[in-house]
Amino acid sequence: MSELIVNGAIRGARSIVERAEKEYSVVLSKWGAGQTVGFPNTAYYLPIVYAIFGLQVKSLGDIAQVLQHCRRLLPPIENAAGSAYGIPQALDAGMATLFAEEIIEALRYVTTPNLYTKTEDPTGGNLWLGAADDVILRRRGVEFVDGSAPGFATILGAAPDKETASAIAAELQQRNLYIFMCGQNHDISFSEQLNQAGVQVGWSSRLVPFGQDISSTVFAIGFAVRVAMSLGGIKPGDGPANMLYNKERIFAFAMPLGEVSDEWYANAAGAINFGFPIISDSNIPEILATGAGENDIVVANVPHDKIVSRALDVRGLKVNVTSIPIPVAYGPAYEGERIRGDDIYLECGGGRTQMVELCLSKRTDELEDGKVEVIGPDLSDVPAGTKLPMAIVVEVAGRQMQEDYEPILERQIHHLLNYAQGVMHLGQRDIGWLRISKKAVEKGFTLRHLGVILHAKLHQDFERIVDKLQVRIYTNAEDVNLMVAQAREVYAVRDPRIDGMTDESTDTYYSCTLCQSFAPNHVCIISPERAGLCGSYNWMDCKASHEINPNGPNQPVAKGSQLDTRLGQWQGVNDFVLKASRGNTNSFNSYSIITDPATACGCMECIAAIQPLCNGIMIVNRDFTGMTPCGMKFTTLASTIGGGSSTPGFIGHSKFNIAQRKFLSAEGGIKRVVWMPKMLKDEIRDRFNARAKEIGMPDLLERIADESIGITEEEVLPFLTQKEHPALTMEPLM
Ligand code: SF4
Ligand code: ZN
Repeated sequence: MSELIVNGAIRGARSIVERAEKEYSVVLSKWGAGQTVGFPNTAYYLPIVYAIFGLQVKSLGDIAQVLQHCRRLLPPIENAAGSAYGIPQALDAGMATLFAEEIIEALRYVTTPNLYTKTEDPTGGNLWLGAADDVILRRRGVEFVDGSAPGFATILGAAPDKETASAIAAELQQRNLYIFMCGQNHDISFSEQLNQAGVQVGWSSRLVPFGQDISSTVFAIGFAVRVAMSLGGIKPGDGPANMLYNKERIFAFAMPLGEVSDEWYANAAGAINFGFPIISDSNIPEILATGAGENDIVVANVPHDKIVSRALDVRGLKVNVTSIPIPVAYGPAYEGERIRGDDIYLECGGGRTQMVELCLSKRTDELEDGKVEVIGPDLSDVPAGTKLPMAIVVEVAGRQMQEDYEPILERQIHHLLNYAQGVMHLGQRDIGWLRISKKAVEKGFTLRHLGVILHAKLHQDFERIVDKLQVRIYTNAEDVNLMVAQAREVYAVRDPRIDGMTDESTDTYYSCTLCQSFAPNHVCIISPERAGLCGSYNWMDCKASHEINPNGPNQPVAKGSQLDTRLGQWQGVNDFVLKASRGNTNSFNSYSIITDPATACGCMECIAAIQPLCNGIMIVNRDFTGMTPCGMKFTTLASTIGGGSSTPGFIGHSKFNIAQRKFLSAEGGIKRVVWMPKMLKDEIRDRFNARAKEIGMPDLLERIADESIGITEEEVLPFLTQKEHPALTMEPLM
């Protein structure tokens, strides 16, 4: 490694460690060793320290140990042998830098609790988000799993001007990457430049303004090490495994823009430990690959218009940029974009007007491929701020097309339209909600382009089943109402198909191994009465997905002879799981939370846990950040049971699954549920009540406690007793 980089990194590390020590002693003397420290809403403490050493830093007192580690990692000022320092010393100094910066940031949460917004997007004029909590981690982690985000770029400093900054950001966004922004250069940061250029920043646009100080770089690496622990099953304390996981599975790189200081070199050395290369616009020494199969480590002097493609080359990332003939940018990075208030040109649905979406299969001779009709007023016919009703009807024909695929294609409308910059879409079916921004309209966007997007993308993504596709968009009330009526007739046929199916009615279940890119030993087995734990796949979806993509992640599983009717175990399923989990799981029970329950990867929507005192089961959903009666928040629970293992007493599952008949049927099903957050109750109310009626307890939901009753078993029990909750008189759980 170049001497300049090595010495710079070591000098920088030393000064950052010294700063951490100084700040620590000030904070310690004021707040005392017992003061709690940590990043908001996470089960990973100071994540880099936890990932590498397994140390759980909970209080100011715990930090002393970490500082000792930092000191030990720093090479002595005088090199004893009198020779120059080399790569190992620089890498160690890099690690010391990251630990010290994690301390600096943790101290900040004590001294200046409102410096960071602690939200997904900037709020109240504050740009700086600080550490991502575990809710953000899981939600975004899933995107790494399903490939909609291949990785992330960490930008340090700032571009020469705001135009260059927005050009680089747009190029990275089009490659679907997350962009983490830290530090500044000449008193300006990349995030501020984007903000000045009117670019929306925040997790929802994948442009994440972590912080102004260089030490906020640890939020990027802290995110990466948590992905390895939460989704990859890497154990806290296994530093080498975590670094290797990141090197091999997370496509990340650092992009320092501007003058590279010693502190930057130190952070770069930290990143190199995780296999993240450095791509810079400045004139610094390069460290290029020395042999076959090696990668460049530091690439310098790259012009701004080449820097993104160069970074992708170095990291070996191939991303196809989708080109669709519309006048606005297009890609997953625009999916979370918000359009509000004055920015809205047109709004449809969302309770303000009626909006409906419908996909129908047709005969090939009935359709003209690529035809898009707008029936009713288009954007150019109405002034800004208009609300219109809307019906989007997608008609598909193909030799392989079946009615069963209609809902699958229909469900794509949401994300496909959202990918367009300036288009925001929520909901589905007859509760759709669409907004189109003024900026998009200024660029020439029309309603016809909605059809152009659906035609291009559905062809591309569903090649095997779509031969011809046409789209009609209605914006007059009369036609929209007719379409709503037609859609409801279709739903009435469609919905009972999966709800009417039982596990006994088929010999074929489906596997899902989509999460193996991050949790290599995890496999979901999806039967008609047990949906995938992420909530994205039910049996019908898997069947269709397999027919559409026979070599994809959803494979048919012949369930074979039934080994246990009550617990839900089959020979064929066991055989499949043994192979698909690479020998890690030889059997499991589909219907039980206690006896060899199913494994969990990390993207479960909900977690159920047994409550011995109440003789029942509590359920918490990912969005609920409060404490639960099992003594753990969702994030802690998720890190306890995730990573591809089976944990008796706990299970990951989807929201939909709760009202499915086989949900924990070995233990008595929903009659065992004693606690759920109120928000979850509200969300699943209709389906839950229907199921409760089926078992003869129509008011069961009202007898289940929530956080307003209590967050410990002791607080909840009197309520359950008063409501005569069925769990209390059922046979003992254990
Ligand atoms: Fe992952 Fe299971 Fe969802 Fe598939 S069904 S994406 S394996 S959680
Ligand atoms: Zn998963």
